[in-house]
Amino acid sequence: MKRTYISAQLDAEIRQVAQNRCGYCLHPQYLVPDILQIEHIIPLSKGGSNEVDNLWLACARCNRYKSNKTVVIDPQTNQLVFLFNPRIQNWFDHFEWSSDGIRVIGLTAIGRATVACLQLDSDPIAMRVRQKWVEAGWHPPTR
Ligand SMILES: [Zn+2]
Repeated sequence: MKRTYISAQLDAEIRQVAQNRCGYCLHPQYLVPDILQIEHIIPLSKGGSNEVDNLWLACARCNRYKSNKTVVIDPQTNQLVFLFNPRIQNWFDHFEWSSDGIRVIGLTAIGRATVACLQLDSDPIAMRVRQKWVEAGWHPPTR
């Protein structure tokens, strides 16, 4: 595996552009105890770069499920599609929150495939945490 070096300036720029939240589950930094990670949209192991266009912010949970994947199966059509790209795609074009605010629902093939891959609708710990955020009035985000 290649070593990663992201300058402090680039790190700060990405956090600002990403609104300091995970690009996949939208968990904001101020609600998660672990520092959000700079992630490679195209992993270094698959030819991705350390350039700004290939970097975004992800929580440890989403980054772990994403791992080095770039394409996954849409469970509805069984087609292989690219994972959601938070740098160039709008979250609300591909996902919405369930009415109780604790599950992410995929609206498109990319959305459905990403939800399945990152377990955005099934991770029991994340759903328990989101339930508490809903009760506190902190969740779900609307933009
Ligand atoms: Zn996340």
